[in-house]
Amino acid sequence: MPYETALQRTKSNAAAYTPPPWRDVPTHYEVYTERHLDRIPALRGLPEELVAEMRVVADVLPFRVNRYVTDVLIDWDEVPRDPVFQLTFPQRGMLSEADFERMADLHRRGAAKDERRAVADDIRRGLNPHPGDQQALNVPLLDEERVAGLQHKYRETVLFFPSHGQTCHAYCTFCFRWAQFVGDTTLRFSAKEAGTLHEYLRRHREVSDLLITGGDPMVMKTRHLADYLTGLLQPSLEHVQHIRIGTKSLTFWPQRYVTDGDADDLLRLFERIVASGRHLALMAHFNHWREMETPIAREAIRRIRDTGAEIRTQAPLLANINDDPAVWSRMWRGQVRLGMIPYYMFVERDTGARRYFEVPLARAWEIYRTAISGVSGLARTARGPSMSASPGKVEIQGVTEIRGEKVMVLRFIQARDPDWVQRPFFARYDDRATWLDDLRPAFGEATFFFQHPARATPPAAAG
Ligand SMILES: *Cc1c(COP(=O)(O)O)cnc(C)c1O
Ligand code: SF4
Repeated sequence: MPYETALQRTKSNAAAYTPPPWRDVPTHYEVYTERHLDRIPALRGLPEELVAEMRVVADVLPFRVNRYVTDVLIDWDEVPRDPVFQLTFPQRGMLSEADFERMADLHRRGAAKDERRAVADDIRRGLNPHPGDQQALNVPLLDEERVAGLQHKYRETVLFFPSHGQTCHAYCTFCFRWAQFVGDTTLRFSAKEAGTLHEYLRRHREVSDLLITGGDPMVMKTRHLADYLTGLLQPSLEHVQHIRIGTKSLTFWPQRYVTDGDADDLLRLFERIVASGRHLALMAHFNHWREMETPIAREAIRRIRDTGAEIRTQAPLLANINDDPAVWSRMWRGQVRLGMIPYYMFVERDTGARRYFEVPLARAWEIYRTAISGVSGLARTARGPSMSASPGKVEIQGVTEIRGEKVMVLRFIQARDPDWVQRPFFARYDDRATWLDDLRPAFGEATFFFQHPARATPPAAAG
């Protein structure tokens, strides 16, 4: 097979990886889920024990890859350390020892599917499937009805989850949306109608930004995407000036923009939006520079940029994948060179396989600081490390000492109450804290300023 020969490269040297030319990569989308582990040729070369562990974990956490990921992106000589392998394949450490053993035991006993499913559901309930209570909060009303598929947390920005975009070309092992992918439909955000979206926006003239998210909206056919997007160009929606699409397709399926049957129609759609005077940005999710190295990914980036759309990049910081400043510096520099704009470094949320990926906040800041000092100003547009917490996006600005007390300096990049934005606040230094909830106010204060009852205003979008 052409991909395999092209994948030959120096052992133990990820930097020497030479991806195949894009004309040789698979163009027919072929997916593998937990039911198809047997069919992935590369797994046959791995120790049977490792594959057995994958089966156990894949019973609990969502698993989905495609042949571009397995045949081109993953460097199998580097497995299990390979970052794209860690990004997509289940690993034993993603479950607690107790949960793993519980499921492994069922496998050893050859337990029936129903029994395994019941245990899987139970384990999932213990993994905080709804971090930040996103399901209950921030869902707006239209004529007193809750609008499913919309979230309006920050005054100027509406998030939209199109029902056709609730899956991805492959799944990330750390994804905080994992609960949507394991078949529990009550947990699923969805929106049936582009009409509801447009009507909501028509009545909310304070909204300048629409962020279309998922899953991955780019799994949609161009004609479905067009239903949502062309309607935004009507005169009554002129206040919606900035349209963002969150996607990991540049990593998992760049063919979407190059060889898919409706790739050219998609690019024409982007051009129409840009021609209308709107700002169109793809918010591309890249965890590692390796994802941007393939010629087809570069061709996709070039074609998108040609339409006048911007590409901004964002990713969580993850142990076992990218907790190394050199990875971030190289990734950000590469993005700038390819015409993309580094935007966010996120702190991994408190859900799913979090233990496996979590990085203490103090360490996250050090990685950010080292990475950002290694790049020129053009790549210092990346903000972070940022926690998308319930009151807003909180950035760790640094660690310092104030009058003898070691503290962490924080600020809101984005907040439920616009008045909180950019106000510095201080937490007691804690080298083990991994999330906002773990932090305590510095200087003996009882609460952070945004927790004072008088200031705890309701969500901007309620009603
Ligand atoms: C990050 C985020 C946004 C966008 O915020 P920007 O500061 O404009 O990038 C909007 N809504 C939610 C819920 C978010 O988490
Ligand atoms: S592409 Fe995004 S939504 Fe899909 S699994 Fe990865 S992080 Fe989650």
